[in-house]
Amino acid sequence: MTNAILLAAVLAACAVLIWVVWKQQGNQGNSNPEQEDARIPPLLRGINFLLSDEPDRALKELVHVAKLQTETAEVYLALGEMFRNKGEFGRAVRIHQNLLARPDLPNHLHMQAQLALAVDFQAGGLLGRALQQFGRILNAQPAHIQALEASLRIREQGREWEIAEELLQRLDQVRGTSSSLHHAYLLTEMARQKLAKRDEEKALALVQQAIERDPACAAAHMLFAEIDLKRAHAETAIGSMQQLHAAAPHYLPLMIPMLVANPGAYESHGKVFLMQCWQEKHDELLALAWIRAIRNEHDVSAARKLMAEMQFEPQSLSACLHLKALLDDDDPLAHASRKWQSTQKNVACVECGVKFVEMRWQCPQCHEWGTMRPIREKETT
Ligand SMILES: [Zn+2]
Repeated sequence: MTNAILLAAVLAACAVLIWVVWKQQGNQGNSNPEQEDARIPPLLRGINFLLSDEPDRALKELVHVAKLQTETAEVYLALGEMFRNKGEFGRAVRIHQNLLARPDLPNHLHMQAQLALAVDFQAGGLLGRALQQFGRILNAQPAHIQALEASLRIREQGREWEIAEELLQRLDQVRGTSSSLHHAYLLTEMARQKLAKRDEEKALALVQQAIERDPACAAAHMLFAEIDLKRAHAETAIGSMQQLHAAAPHYLPLMIPMLVANPGAYESHGKVFLMQCWQEKHDELLALAWIRAIRNEHDVSAARKLMAEMQFEPQSLSACLHLKALLDDDDPLAHASRKWQSTQKNVACVECGVKFVEMRWQCPQCHEWGTMRPIREKETT
């Protein structure tokens, strides 16, 4: 596989180099043949080293070729990208650093090499150096969309929400967009950080700001309800859950364990609210989450009692297995169901389709916010 990719890299590089040399000959007509010849030996030696799997020596030779002709810088950029795609980040970095060290590099190629080097660092996981490099690009071109997007992604990875939010504002200005849902999720993450530092007032202000920014932000309604449950404000907590149910009902089951674990709120308002939601849509995932929460907080008989009150009959195979895992103890199918349940992927991204066991607000694959949904099995009847 490595050899096949290397061979492809060599062939592509040769094709472009030969084309450049041929074009030069065509353009220059009676150009000095010695000048042309000077490029050939290092080129051939470079190709030879590549074929004998000695990429570092090959690079050294190809540097000579690149020094002799400005056009070959583009070949160099292509070669760097191929190394990066192959996962050889160190080599890609060396290629791009060599290019940047050249005093004769035209401005547009200089910027391309800067960007390529930043992407090398990011792809290689050297996020601090990648940020520095993207920062250099943004100093020269403050509206550089790719550098802004990449910096935003790195800040999100590092959970640096405030800087991420500033970058998103800049991006919105440059693109002429309004990513209100994205802003709302970032504000909610900022609120969660404040809450972890016990700054409840700041957290509430931020979460309020998030809901104003985009009422479809499910995480904000959930955090609001969570804070109110902690402060024993049962009525307003249920109010937030009602808003969640209206804006994004598929996330309501995520709230149920917290509600059931708070007996005051659950008994005074929560149970009636959940029963209303159940009767409205007969959502199987809501029923399962509720029965599971009661089973975990109390016992199997309380869970069975709730099932009877709800008149819940599972309609899908997965619901049958979940109930089996929850309510039955000592038979082989219950054991197998528990094992199945622990590895079951429960959420999927509606943008890119990636599936996970645990819920998360930002998709790790396509990086979109609020695109993870609980997976629903088609009902069998
Ligand atoms: Zn995705």
